[in-house]
Amino acid sequence: MLYLDHAATTPVRPAVAEAMAPFLADRFGNSSGVHSVSRRAKNALEEAREQAAALIGARPREIVFTGGGTESDNLALKGVALAGGNRGGVVTAATEHEAVLETADFLRRFGCPTGIVGVDPHGLIDPVELAAAVASDTKVVSVMAANNETGTIQPLAPLVAAVKAENPRVLFHTDAVQAFAALKIDVDEWAVDLISLSAHKFGGPQGVGLLFVRSGCVLEPLMHGGGQELGRRSGTHNVAGAVGMATAMELATDDRDRFRTDTAEARSHFEAKLSDRAERTVPEDLALPQHSHLRFDGINNETLLVLLDRLGVAASAGSACASGAATVSHVLEAMGLTPEEARSSLRFSFGWTSKLSEAEQAAEAVLEALEGRP
Ligand code: PLP
Repeated sequence: MLYLDHAATTPVRPAVAEAMAPFLADRFGNSSGVHSVSRRAKNALEEAREQAAALIGARPREIVFTGGGTESDNLALKGVALAGGNRGGVVTAATEHEAVLETADFLRRFGCPTGIVGVDPHGLIDPVELAAAVASDTKVVSVMAANNETGTIQPLAPLVAAVKAENPRVLFHTDAVQAFAALKIDVDEWAVDLISLSAHKFGGPQGVGLLFVRSGCVLEPLMHGGGQELGRRSGTHNVAGAVGMATAMELATDDRDRFRTDTAEARSHFEAKLSDRAERTVPEDLALPQHSHLRFDGINNETLLVLLDRLGVAASAGSACASGAATVSHVLEAMGLTPEEARSSLRFSFGWTSKLSEAEQAAEAVLEALEGRP
């Protein structure tokens, strides 16, 4: 299989699986206990927390391990909006991942005022418009660092500055789930209050993520119980997952320069071969190097995906949860594409295992699928 769906999930790096293995075997302890079996698990968990924190310039106490990007987004939005026992407002953007948009909708249905701002044809948000959407009862603004469908990188600094200039108490959350592999995150440079990450997007295991919560930010927990994660996320820890996540963060950080160069090169070879048949949705310089979101005029994306699958190429029509359904991507719709244009768009995403030869073979397969379509 030529795997060009790294934005959906990535293969686990061998060193990550190796680092996790002992915690699925003899180091199985519950990190919340007092005996030595537990303490060994607890030590590993806290080392993973320190490692993850250091890699984004955070303090260990600012890391909350979660069950993935979706949970991190839920905790950020619900946790802040409902903190202090009242219902604060949320402002977000029309192109966010469902984990943010559905959470905002949940909060709206339970009485929290919600604002959704639009984007320009490249998926970019106007700082003035974002700041204008913030009301006196807004508690959290959530804007993703890079889009999972198109790869659009959102310049966060002007957005954070515009929001904070008038509303210094409003917290700023960013979903950096897609961004981490390619973009260096430093919590002070980014100047945001909350950041969601998910391990399986950069060579870590599925089902584990983290939320960076800047010191001083108060969250209402979603999970109530034994009070783990300083009361912010109860439940027995996924020690193997946390170790796997921190290891994957370290490896992805060390590999980031190569990753950027190699995925950009693979992508540009891939696109060059398709240049007569496809058009990029957003210009290269505005997007993640590993994302190739293309429009094939007059072609139905679902048909093309099935043909590609038969030819051994894995790609995607959008976000994993939306693909398969005959809905039009909310991201492309917000960017102003017509339903026909949206239905003729496909996402190819490269990753840490991608090779140039693979990109070339995949482009050949796309050309073959275009010829062979019914
Ligand atoms: N946010 C973005 C931007 C994503 O791409 C994804 C995964 O598709 C998620 C959140 C959800 O992350 P997870 O799969 O870890 O729940």
